[in-house]
Amino acid sequence: MARLAIRLILAIGSLLGILALLNTYSKRQVQGDWPLVGKVDFSTTPAAIPPRPSAAIVVLCRNSDINGILPSLEHLELTFNAHPMTSYTYVFLNNNDFNVHFREKVTAYLTTARERFGGPRASIPDIRFGQIPPEHWDVPANVNVTKVRAGWSDMIKAKVPYASSMSYRQMCRFQSGFFFRHPLLQDFKYYWRVEPDVTFSCNIVPPQGAAPTSWDARADGMGDFFDPFRWMAANKKKYAWVLSLTEYPATIHDLWVHSLRFFKANTQYHSPGLTALNFVASRNRVGLSYNHCHFWSNFEIADLDWYRSEGYIKYFEELDRTGKFFKWRWGDAPVHSIAAAWLLSKDEIHQFTNIGYTHDPFTACPRGEQYLSRCKCDSQSDFKYDPGQMSCQTQWDAVVGTDSKAKILEINNEMGFPGLDGFAVLQIPGQEPVTEREAKATRVAQAPGRLGM
Ligand code: GDP
Ligand code: MN
Repeated sequence: MARLAIRLILAIGSLLGILALLNTYSKRQVQGDWPLVGKVDFSTTPAAIPPRPSAAIVVLCRNSDINGILPSLEHLELTFNAHPMTSYTYVFLNNNDFNVHFREKVTAYLTTARERFGGPRASIPDIRFGQIPPEHWDVPANVNVTKVRAGWSDMIKAKVPYASSMSYRQMCRFQSGFFFRHPLLQDFKYYWRVEPDVTFSCNIVPPQGAAPTSWDARADGMGDFFDPFRWMAANKKKYAWVLSLTEYPATIHDLWVHSLRFFKANTQYHSPGLTALNFVASRNRVGLSYNHCHFWSNFEIADLDWYRSEGYIKYFEELDRTGKFFKWRWGDAPVHSIAAAWLLSKDEIHQFTNIGYTHDPFTACPRGEQYLSRCKCDSQSDFKYDPGQMSCQTQWDAVVGTDSKAKILEINNEMGFPGLDGFAVLQIPGQEPVTEREAKATRVAQAPGRLGM
């Protein structure tokens, strides 16, 4: 009798246990099972959260980049885009047609990734594939292919990456002046550039210590949730980046002189006060020279209307007329950055320090307590105050009034190298022009009166 009672109690206990488990499970299901971002409570009304801005995640790649792009997208889904409040459109662009295999593979993979990471409330991803019109990609008629190829030998000897590649130069020109004109992007105001083989290594959450915005996810009981697109729209930002560094001088011969000439002659496009100019320009013996700093454009979130603006388009056209995207190997990163420095104010440019990102060989990995549990990168690998003197963080800090020294002391203390030149260091960009000819051209371009200043 007693045994029977015990059995009965055990059976009822197990049943209750199973019911409790099921209840927890279904609650999790209802609330959305969001593995990295944490507890997102979809039962609260998200009325305070502004609507999704018109924005797309844009990937330029080839059919052969499939093994590189799937992991990049998995990271982005996992940390950001599988969330029902984001789930932004993906736009894939290619100079050739994306083949059926690429389209099928990307669609199938992203759809299941969304189911795995986004929970039952997640939407089906919106994925669009587009081909680049030949007039946006092909080598333009003003470029003599035989002649420019013959001029690459020094760069090749110096082992400059992609020195001998024509397609890389076509890509740089496309990313400088054409991507934002693609018909598939006409529907969108913001874009986020994503490349193959990159890692997004943190839950995308509000910056450490940030004052809650009116629609802050935490304030709304939405858990840890931060949408760079909504944030940019709310804060009227036009250009955002995570890492900056200096460019290989051999690739950008003459770029500054042509830029200077354009912007001195077209002051109507200047941002009032030119508050961001010092990020790229340093005063040295020849005057205002390019310090070779640029925002690393493989990560870029930007307002496409800025790229589509008259000032930017005219600037690009002036550069393109020279044919020097091909004669040298002008990169889209210095082009975007020089344009941003003249056309935008420092308040329209934003560095996301709350995003963990790796594109070989550099990593942005946020420091601070809240990121210990939210990032799968090591903040010791953060490139911002890199001792190799290649980062331009210090230059940007000076523009926005951040105390680099205090930051560096803090990092070095944390790392056990107290002082200013331990683990992290102050970078001092401000290179001289590459050749005497360029120094002279720079002096001429900024001679007062000559160009209508
Ligand atoms: P890196 O980051 O400067 O080393 O250059 P990548 O090889 O990553 O190229 C930059 C971006 O352009 C990536 O998104 C590539 O997928 C893309 N890309 C480079 N070359 C081509 C090309 O010839 N065709 C296409 N469709 N995409 C390209
Ligand atoms: Mn890349």
